[in-house]
Amino acid sequence: MQKKIKVAEAKKTSTPEISIVIPVYNEEENIETLCRRLFKTMDAVKRSYELIIVDDGSADKTPQMLRDIFKKRSDVLRVVTFNGNYGQYVAILAGFEHVHGEIVVTLDADLQNLPEEIPNLLVKIDEGHDLVGSYRAKRHDNWFRTLASKIVNFIREQTTGIKMRDHGCMLRAYRRFIIDEVVKTRETSTFITALAQKFAGNPIDIPVTHEERAAGSSKYNLYKLIRITFDLMTGFSLVPLQVFTMVGMVISSASGIYFLVELFKKVVTHHHGYGLHFAFVFLLLSVIILGIGLLGEYLGRAYFAVCEHPRFVIRDILEKKSEKKKDKE
Ligand code: UDP
Ligand code: MG
Repeated sequence: MQKKIKVAEAKKTSTPEISIVIPVYNEEENIETLCRRLFKTMDAVKRSYELIIVDDGSADKTPQMLRDIFKKRSDVLRVVTFNGNYGQYVAILAGFEHVHGEIVVTLDADLQNLPEEIPNLLVKIDEGHDLVGSYRAKRHDNWFRTLASKIVNFIREQTTGIKMRDHGCMLRAYRRFIIDEVVKTRETSTFITALAQKFAGNPIDIPVTHEERAAGSSKYNLYKLIRITFDLMTGFSLVPLQVFTMVGMVISSASGIYFLVELFKKVVTHHHGYGLHFAFVFLLLSVIILGIGLLGEYLGRAYFAVCEHPRFVIRDILEKKSEKKKDKE
């Protein structure tokens, strides 16, 4: 009953039913084709929609191109522009904070996933799933990217217990309440797909096509990938800290026994020699340093949560005047 009222209200205020969120960083070679293919697909679906593109501080021609596209399609397009580069996941979060639709779809800008497949996700949502994830049936990335992704997937499953076939595939659809929950968490760095999976009640994964990047190169380097893995581990689980504590306990017990043995040798046999002592001290030091690093990860997260640092600064929002008013109300 409540659902029906909501739909009626949506029609009255012309709130779009579907919101598509796309993070964009230096995608001048892809943005026009992306928008053209997306508008074509979604116009054919005959359901009201909005496209929210978050420009994650692009330094190429992307911002200007977005302004041009906005001039033509301000009926459906909204552009959120960051003042700098905050990363794909932060950009998606900013998009989530501006969605109006009851169904939210995410997609990358590089056309590795096909905009034409969005209707397949919508069918699954209509069937009653609150989250439609996707996995790359046949992946087209270089060996490094594929391997890195496999490692991250493995670590995620082991440390967080969150089961997802392919968290890196961003062509996904969500019911709005999941997105609202994700936004509410006010995380400083979030692994959106994993977080959303936690809030979903009836998720499903479907296979999707994965093509090579249409143009440009991956925006991820080794450093960014390592950062994501740390975010994932510290954001969703205490296992790394617990492992450290366990290792610390084992090592301190072993060192206690070792100390007693050495003491015994010294007192009873008057034995000399320092090689093993040094090795042991170095080992202990390395464990301590690792521990400090891990503690720093958690402290950093707690620090940002306490300070309520803004996760991003928006420089500008391009949208129709009526949308702006609606947001302020
Ligand atoms: N992206 C972003 N900010 C970044 C890096 C990437 O908004 O700092 C966007 C990028 O434009 C693309 C999506 O995130 O739309 C995925 O990036 P990419 O295709 O480079 O990642 P990969 O496919 O290699 O995982
Ligand atoms: Mg890509």
